[in-house]
Amino acid sequence: MQPKELLTLAEEFGSPLYVYDATTIEHQYNRLTAAFSKVENLRINYAMKALSNITILKLLKKCGSGLDTVSFQEVQLGLHAGFTPDKIIFTPNGVSFEEIEEVAKLGVQINIDNLSVLEHFGTKYPKVPVCIRINPHVMAGGNENISVGHIDSKFGISIYQIPHVLRIVENTKMHINGIHMHTGSDILDIEVFLYAAEILFDAAKQFKELDFLDFGSGFKVPYKKGDIETNIEELGKKLTKRFLAFEKEYGRTLTLAFEPGKFLVSEAGFFLAKVNVVKQTTSTVFAGIDSGFNHLIRPMFYGSQHMIENISNPKGKERFYTVVGYICETDTFANNRRVAEIKESDILCFKNAGAYCFSMASNYNSRFKPAEVLWKDGKGHLISKRETFEDLIKNQILVEV
Ligand SMILES: *Cc1c(COP(=O)(O)O)cnc(C)c1O
Repeated sequence: MQPKELLTLAEEFGSPLYVYDATTIEHQYNRLTAAFSKVENLRINYAMKALSNITILKLLKKCGSGLDTVSFQEVQLGLHAGFTPDKIIFTPNGVSFEEIEEVAKLGVQINIDNLSVLEHFGTKYPKVPVCIRINPHVMAGGNENISVGHIDSKFGISIYQIPHVLRIVENTKMHINGIHMHTGSDILDIEVFLYAAEILFDAAKQFKELDFLDFGSGFKVPYKKGDIETNIEELGKKLTKRFLAFEKEYGRTLTLAFEPGKFLVSEAGFFLAKVNVVKQTTSTVFAGIDSGFNHLIRPMFYGSQHMIENISNPKGKERFYTVVGYICETDTFANNRRVAEIKESDILCFKNAGAYCFSMASNYNSRFKPAEVLWKDGKGHLISKRETFEDLIKNQILVEV
């Protein structure tokens, strides 16, 4: 999107504001499916926790996507957006058995990542097909907050516990119809991904009635200059070749599934905030915006470096700034960052604000969550309203004290 278009949206809808470009989402979806076009049955399940607005869900549904969900409420939102239960997979961790039952009753594919739950579920519902989530113990990337396949991770059934899984299957006569892995959000190296895939293939051989293999996600998108981006096209070529060979060996056509979040929506998102104050101190120049980690927590939570542009003065001379929020805590978006000269009231644009940004927003400091706009066909469409004071108090009960 052009700085001018974004600036117009900030004027029209106010700040802070989230803007999502529909074309980018469609483009990323098509890029992924094109990379795996030689696979007969490909299934993309959008990991909706990245960005769960129902218009975004509908847009991805129109592209042909299914949904990957992690809570009963996400399943409900998916159904509300028009997905049928057969297009949804439920991949929770640490939820109650009752929640899994509730979702299974809707006809949604269940993915189980714990032996005791598997045994309990198989005993009670031997006729309901189940996918198992394995942990291949492959470390993806270096950030342990987002690596979920390593040995200490709480996710998945250890690959070393497959003999126990087989025993449960035999004892309960349950039907395992899929095998799944999700190694984390930081696949820097395709070879590492392919290595984990081999472990999945090995495990898959031991189950005779599979319908699908789910390789999760972990596709990396660049946030700052010099960041590695997962080469989807190369991954597509290499994994397709290996998958087709496996199908032959297995003797049955299988569906190849993925569940990307970030890859589909991260680059489509722009976060716009207005500069309240420019403050020169002894050590730096602060640019303080009308937002904070209540609206965009990734820089503080993961150390993510979102690119920042001054769209009010895109051609201005660059200077060094520390961009901070208005929360009464340290909430630094960027340290010592080159940005085109900033004046008070300028609008700053944060890139890569589609995934895990609005969906992680809170009301800390009793601030309203921002509005969200979808940019489609050259127009901004409001897809969620800015909160109001009513939203802050709607669940509160005033007790006479
Ligand atoms: C969060 C999540 C994803 C999506 O990860 P991205 O890095 O956003 O692509 C996929 N699968 C599962 C099980 C997840 O929890």
